[in-house]
Amino acid sequence: MSGSAWVASSDRWWTRPRRVAFEAYVSLVADALTLRDWDIRVDWDSPCSSDAIAEILSWPHQRRATVHVGQQFAGAEPRDQRQTVVHELIHCHLFALHAMSDEVVALLAKPAARLASKVMTVEVERVTDALADAFSPTVPVPEIAPGTVIPKPAPRRTAGA
Ligand SMILES: [Zn+2]
Repeated sequence: MSGSAWVASSDRWWTRPRRVAFEAYVSLVADALTLRDWDIRVDWDSPCSSDAIAEILSWPHQRRATVHVGQQFAGAEPRDQRQTVVHELIHCHLFALHAMSDEVVALLAKPAARLASKVMTVEVERVTDALADAFSPTVPVPEIAPGTVIPKPAPRRTAGA
């Protein structure tokens, strides 16, 4: 789906109050995961890959990341939405490790590099998912489902607060 088509269809589900509530939820989970020193935002302009519920892109050295959600997120059960958000944010703790492994892999011959890169990617996903499964029950589910009374978000923290 092209970006503009996604924006048009996602606007119906991702209403302004729902977007604000989701951003507050991402912030809540980030705090719970001790990512308070990260700048984590939701990028509403570009969806994630069509085969994913959500993705996160990171600039680990700047402690900055953007969460991208897709059409499938809206239809997911609240517990799956929670596990997805926790999973994506746990990646923040592993991005630097993954980036370092990419540098090491770049020094290898091609067949070994391909294998090492694949193993690292698969294992990072496996570990991230296992941690997300363990941690998810400790945070509430997002309250953004249709029919949910979306609570007013708390005022956004400012840097140094
Ligand atoms: Zn992942």
